[in-house]
Amino acid sequence: MTVLRAQGLSRRFPVRAGRLAARRWLHAVNGVTLEMRQKETLAIVGESGSGKSTLGRLLALIEQPDAGTLEIAGERATPENRARMRPLVQMVFQNPHACLNPRKTLEDILDEPLRINTPLGRAARDLEIDAMLERVGLSPKYRRRYPHMFSGGQRQRIAIARAMMLKPRLVIADEPTSALDVSIQAQIINLFRELEARHETSFLFISHDLGVVRHVARRVAVMYLGTIVEEAPTETLFQSPRHPYTRALLSTHPTLGGEWRRIPLTGEPPSPLEHTDGCPFRQRCPLADARCANEAPVLLPQDGDASHLAACHLQGTGGA
Ligand code: SF4
Repeated sequence: MTVLRAQGLSRRFPVRAGRLAARRWLHAVNGVTLEMRQKETLAIVGESGSGKSTLGRLLALIEQPDAGTLEIAGERATPENRARMRPLVQMVFQNPHACLNPRKTLEDILDEPLRINTPLGRAARDLEIDAMLERVGLSPKYRRRYPHMFSGGQRQRIAIARAMMLKPRLVIADEPTSALDVSIQAQIINLFRELEARHETSFLFISHDLGVVRHVARRVAVMYLGTIVEEAPTETLFQSPRHPYTRALLSTHPTLGGEWRRIPLTGEPPSPLEHTDGCPFRQRCPLADARCANEAPVLLPQDGDASHLAACHLQGTGGA
């Protein structure tokens, strides 16, 4: 069953260098098309500034797209029904401290979504809260504590519990482990895997950490300058990356991946203000030719495999 279907999603933001300067546009997300099925775990990877967090906010119905359509659980999101649909998609953010109300107890934080969105009475809500606390590895005896009384890892468990309270169809986790110690990161990754196994929810991870992505996701989409340039089952992507950017990204982690030809990732990504025709990776791509400057490549199946897509004019030849 399809939980999420995004088609041609785009979002740009106005930017002014000064009060008298002409307005320019930062193209954060450009025509992204994506599907997720029930109980699927997908990761979106890319460098800082690739647009992955903006895409996450579009999919979580926090931002409105400028173009494109979005369906959650078969219903198309519109400005009129966004508020009603929002409980279907929940977000977990990088910094749990910043997104938990310091004046509310753990009990209040977890009760709020139930109280607002369900007809459950107090006793039934209490049972739900205790059950969820156990599922995320927190003792119900902590219910009266405030967020500052918990460690960073425990706060992230609280944020995850809050996201799961309404049994959402999709949880979007934006760099959920990057603010945590390495030892705690593994615990949070394991928690997501346990929740994935026990619930019908789908999970979308946004991360720059390829090691985390390989552990947690079944499928990976690679984002560059607002577009998805490659998408594949996780092991296929790590063992047989086709897009030069994916190879360059994996080349920065020599312990990951297979025997494909490595490509050094050089230079900074171009500014998303300089939106031009052609392949968005061409300024950094060692394989670029004249066609790459004039014609934007589209995502196409690799070697007839519809689960492995890459957007490169050299696709199908191995990219090198
Ligand atoms: Fe490189 Fe051209 Fe492929 Fe873009 S389309 S990744 S510039 S070879």
